[in-house]
Amino acid sequence: MELLTDKLTVLKHPLVNHNLAIIRDKNSSCETFKNALKRITYALIFEATKNLKTVKKEVETPITRTVCEVYDENYQVIIAPILRAGMIFCEVAQELLPFSNVHHIGMYRNEKTLEPVWYYDKKKAIKENKSKVQLIILDPMLATGNSAVDAIKNFISKGILEENIVFMCLISSPIGVEKVSRLFPKVHIITACLDKELNSNGYIVPGLGDAGDRIYNTLD
Ligand code: URA
Repeated sequence: MELLTDKLTVLKHPLVNHNLAIIRDKNSSCETFKNALKRITYALIFEATKNLKTVKKEVETPITRTVCEVYDENYQVIIAPILRAGMIFCEVAQELLPFSNVHHIGMYRNEKTLEPVWYYDKKKAIKENKSKVQLIILDPMLATGNSAVDAIKNFISKGILEENIVFMCLISSPIGVEKVSRLFPKVHIITACLDKELNSNGYIVPGLGDAGDRIYNTLD
């Protein structure tokens, strides 16, 4: 499938690839899996915040005064993990974005239809000036794209601008990327890798299996 989008960024870094190999390995323990994922999360968040709004600020060093660039407090940064797997990105995201607000989205996938089923949508996080929100939606797996599309739609209906939305994931599939970028061409997609395809159960191939089960050690 040819992906005609300039809004897709696939990380290219040997350390990202090294940690992806650990994550993919079915013999990696839950602890090993999570540590490797945490290392990649730093790289993903740095990429996902490339367009963070900044302003100039004068700072006095021990030597002299100089003009620096700092986060623009007129903008609200919201990180939105899709429960439950998306929570794995939250600790690092909050560490790197201490001024952000967290908007939890509760959704699970109906295993038959592969459609998302909503159960939670934290409303309090969004402040008044919706055009000045920079939003990062967090979900490790962009598979069918159904959850991503629903989450993005939900935020746009709340007044968040499409161009201010980033969808950040660990592994993506061509179908998922195509769906999101066709419906929301201004949304940035940041991913550590773009895998080959989906299997008949909607799992990414080669992928890593069920992300939630690997993170929370709930494999059968
Ligand atoms: N969700 C997962 O956890 N893994 C996949 O491969 C696809 C969706």
